[in-house]
Amino acid sequence: MQKRLTLLGSTGSIGESTLDVVARHPDRFSVHALTAHRNGDKLVAQCLRFQPDVAVVGDADTAAKVAAELRAAGCRTEVHHGPAALVDAASSAGCDTVVAAIVGAAGLAPTLAAARMGKRILLANKEALVMSGQIFIDAVRDNGAVLLPVDSEHNAVFQCLPREAALHGGVSKIILTASGGPFRTREPSTLVDVTPDEACKHPNWAMGRKISVDSATMMNKGLEVIEAHWLFDLPGSRIEVLIHPQSVIHSMVSYADGSVLAQLGNPDMRTPIAHALAFPDRVNSGVAQLDLAQVATLTFEKPDFQRFPCLALAIRALEAGGIASAALNAANEVAVEAFLARRIGFMAIGEVVESVLNALPVTSAATLDDVLAADAEARRLASRFASRFAGTPAAGAPSAERIAH
Ligand code: NAD
Ligand code: MG
Repeated sequence: MQKRLTLLGSTGSIGESTLDVVARHPDRFSVHALTAHRNGDKLVAQCLRFQPDVAVVGDADTAAKVAAELRAAGCRTEVHHGPAALVDAASSAGCDTVVAAIVGAAGLAPTLAAARMGKRILLANKEALVMSGQIFIDAVRDNGAVLLPVDSEHNAVFQCLPREAALHGGVSKIILTASGGPFRTREPSTLVDVTPDEACKHPNWAMGRKISVDSATMMNKGLEVIEAHWLFDLPGSRIEVLIHPQSVIHSMVSYADGSVLAQLGNPDMRTPIAHALAFPDRVNSGVAQLDLAQVATLTFEKPDFQRFPCLALAIRALEAGGIASAALNAANEVAVEAFLARRIGFMAIGEVVESVLNALPVTSAATLDDVLAADAEARRLASRFASRFAGTPAAGAPSAERIAH
């Protein structure tokens, strides 16, 4: 049966890769809704090509412009705007599958709505799961939703785990690989003055700017440890991070008998996207077959927590439980935005996040209101701390004392 998709965040990097795979299989996939924030031009082009029932944008002005252009081109897509329209698109009876590819906390409400409507959810938007953790997992279970990981590491782990949960007893740990980002070998004392463009120049992956900065700080891997905890129901102590600069092994599962299963492939998100879209079938993703003779060398090293304090902060937040992961995520979003806007230096990102974690008491995250309140408070504190670091990038220099938690 053909799958009918709502694609949240269609104009982003994951959104475009998803549409690339969808376009290869018109017999299998069609589009109910596409959503973007401000990039009306790209959304118009996507609507003309995929003819969705609904398009959603962030504000009324962009909606009016998009609607006028679509009408002029004879396209019948309805255009809506705002957060409630995102939730409607994700919960509509017009779709069975929701691809969650909005960046950041803005994706939580529609992704959670999809879970509550029992949809098949292809999750790229790790921040939504990091924020809401148990609430999200409960919503998936209680409403018969299906959660398929798109994040390449988690998709790899999913592929390497036994299909039946009853056999997960033999799993000893999962190993998330990490490229180490653009600053893996750079002299740490020079990190204070890196620019947003340098931070976004990832050696292996082309991604949106927020996740690119997260990869450079390795906060991305920290968020992924938390994501893996919720997806695979394992404690942080059984989730290992391993630096693997070639990004060919996307992650591994280690078993009690000494076996280690790995998933390999060229670093192109269309592979995990195609896997999750077609699961349990396998379809052409457009990605070239891996040529291991050409890759020749695969190397591995332990992560350096001094160089990457954000990774240590995320693990600390997971261990702390309650609202700590939501606070970590919110503080990081504010700090990354401040860095991209050149208001703070690169190393201040971790400083801001740590200051917020230190300032916020760890309370329970039993309800969505608890999570949203923590998110709001962490953002307020992070903006305050960020303004203290503003204009003094060197104030964010790393120190062993600051990360020793
Ligand atoms: P991106 O910045 O390229 O795209 C983000 C999308 O979200 C865009 O369509 C944008 O219009 C939309 N958006 C942004 N702010 C919004 C808001 N406030 N309300 C509604 N829509 C909004 O990001 P990306 O790289 O595609 O990443 C998307 C998500 O997937 C992130 O959570 C990221 O961590 C995750 N992810 C990305 C990759 C990758 O290779 N790009 C890999 C793994 C996971
Ligand atoms: Mg990833």
